[in-house]
Amino acid sequence: MDERLVVIGSLNMDLSVTVSRLPRPGETVSGADVVRGAGGKGANQAVAAARLGAGVRMVGLLGEDTLGGELRAGLLAEGVDAGGIAQLPGVSTGLALIVVQRDGENTITLSPGANHRLDVPALEELAEPAGPGETLLLQLEVPVETVLAAARSARAAGALTVLNAAPLPALPLPSELLAAVDVLVVNETEAAGLLAPGPEPDWATHARRLRALGPDTVVITLGAAGAVAAGPDGPVAEDGFPVAAVDTVGAGDAFCAQLALALGAGVPLAQAVRRSCAAGALATTRRGAQAALPTRAEVDGLLV
Ligand code: ADP
Repeated sequence: MDERLVVIGSLNMDLSVTVSRLPRPGETVSGADVVRGAGGKGANQAVAAARLGAGVRMVGLLGEDTLGGELRAGLLAEGVDAGGIAQLPGVSTGLALIVVQRDGENTITLSPGANHRLDVPALEELAEPAGPGETLLLQLEVPVETVLAAARSARAAGALTVLNAAPLPALPLPSELLAAVDVLVVNETEAAGLLAPGPEPDWATHARRLRALGPDTVVITLGAAGAVAAGPDGPVAEDGFPVAAVDTVGAGDAFCAQLALALGAGVPLAQAVRRSCAAGALATTRRGAQAALPTRAEVDGLLV
């Protein structure tokens, strides 16, 4: 596949410890050995796209520390072009401290670190905007002003711009952002958060209402139930693939990467959504975030 994808977004190291019960404030609880995992929605989607066969360039910021070096090396090992990633001196790499109780209940403390230093001047220094024939994939774990500037310049340069509006910030998204992207991908919670509360959610109607805010195509992912979309040629609904799901972390990232690649390659919306549902479903069959992301051959295998 010779799709060219640019991902501008976050990179984090996830450090997880499993404990028999979560500590109360002021308490110390011993747990199992630390499990390290590369994460951050930007990096997850970049790795997902590389496994799905695309040429991927990632743009983002790390700290000039050991974790930053590990994350950069991990991306290179996946075949991602890390030329748009800088390591800032005196700043920490993004870090998620995760404590998991055996029944799955967990607490996560996130230190965005270098990810929050990706302001508009930093972006301009790091990267040329995506150009014609390229697809730009964005999420919301770096400053929203940067996401908006990246979307605008990529669109002006003739690239397809795809926004996964996750996680939704506490403040409302600037309305210019939805007007600046070609494709919006959200899950049910994010879809509901982007629209004023209305009657009983009907996701096809939600997708149509979100489309009226600017994006040419809106896709809402529905977990095991698959996804619905509203595009220029009308609505699309695809069922989820029946799989033995063990951990849904990474499903949304696999879905977004596959959708961006397929739409960038001109695949019709219904077919692109179906392929993305296959990628999302496969990611639920393995534990972890990046560890669970499927390859192109695996997606092809589920589609036959
Ligand atoms: P997020 O993780 O961002 O909330 P979803 O849970 O909606 O996103 O998952 C993204 C996509 O992954 C879904 O649209 C679906 O295609 C697939 N998926 C997620 N969970 C399952 C599941 N249990 N079984 C099959 N497919 C799933």
